[in-house]
Amino acid sequence: MDRAGVSCVIPLWNEEGSLPHLHAALVAALKGLNRDYEVVYVDDGSTDGSRKVLEALYDQDATTQVISLRGHYGKSAALMAGFRHARFPIVVTLDADLQDEPQEIPKLLETLEQGFDMVTGWKRVRHDPWLKVVSSRLFNWVTSLFTGIRLHDYNSGFKAYRREVLAELDIYGELHRFIPALLGLRHFTVAEVPVQHNPRQFGRTKFGPERFINGFLDLLTVMFLSNYLKTPLHLFGRIGLLFFTTGFLINSYITYLKALTGTIQFHYPLLVLGTLLLIMGVQFVCTGLLGELISKANRRDADRFVIRAHLTRHPHEPGGFTIKRRQPPE
Ligand code: UDP
Ligand code: MG
Repeated sequence: MDRAGVSCVIPLWNEEGSLPHLHAALVAALKGLNRDYEVVYVDDGSTDGSRKVLEALYDQDATTQVISLRGHYGKSAALMAGFRHARFPIVVTLDADLQDEPQEIPKLLETLEQGFDMVTGWKRVRHDPWLKVVSSRLFNWVTSLFTGIRLHDYNSGFKAYRREVLAELDIYGELHRFIPALLGLRHFTVAEVPVQHNPRQFGRTKFGPERFINGFLDLLTVMFLSNYLKTPLHLFGRIGLLFFTTGFLINSYITYLKALTGTIQFHYPLLVLGTLLLIMGVQFVCTGLLGELISKANRRDADRFVIRAHLTRHPHEPGGFTIKRRQPPE
């Protein structure tokens, strides 16, 4: 087994019906890889019989880890828990509901080993309700447009990573939808390969229609975190300066009118607008300054850059910095 081993991380929440079928299909696919492997199930606070099923799988199969979270924390948290405990250099994630096809794992690995940091599965032919398919298309289009990381399918649970990449990932809430953007915006290489997608056979989807509202709000967070976290004043300050300048021009005009005609009785609405813009302008700039303070207080070295490789004949830790060294890919 000279090839890198694979850890399969499966987040799940109330999937008792699918689990035995999933495990059988997964193990069959993993055995065929001729690599070391393990399956890491992360139970996100299931209240059905999932826990019992997982305990039985753990007893039967020595390549299985089961992580049971104390309660229901959401898919992002479950993934993070799995990433933290994955043992092998390659990490593959799948949904537990049999919608992702374990037979497709070799395809993801092949692309990953061409030199990518992450590969994401593209459900080209989807087996989901039409409303979900249409809104998901829109979501992918908008996210691609705003992040510049062009993908057909952001929110596929089927992905493969080099494990060291995951050390740089910090997702919470529902940010798992944006993993390719979060990594891509930090200059990791992301590839997409078409994968087979199956209809859900057991249980129901865990994300209702509110997924779209949350998704678009989260897009704001992602854009903000990735582009403006370093310089909040550049965003808020720009808006503030625009407002302030416009307000200043309007009120100068009103002052000029007052001096010229002695009355501004027809221009009160304009005066209100000008004054409002001045105040809002100052507030935006102040918000930006506060953002700078917060960002400075929380900034980590890791937020600024990630080193791909470090060729040096003088290995040492430069004063006060901790730099994670990574071997160049074979
Ligand atoms: N999941 C989870 N915690 C959650 C929501 C979902 O662990 O809060 C798991 C779920 O059990 C499944 C995967 O994430 O294994 C994808 O969920 P689902 O199939 O409901 O999403 P969809 O396919 O509808 O996008
Ligand atoms: Mg699903």
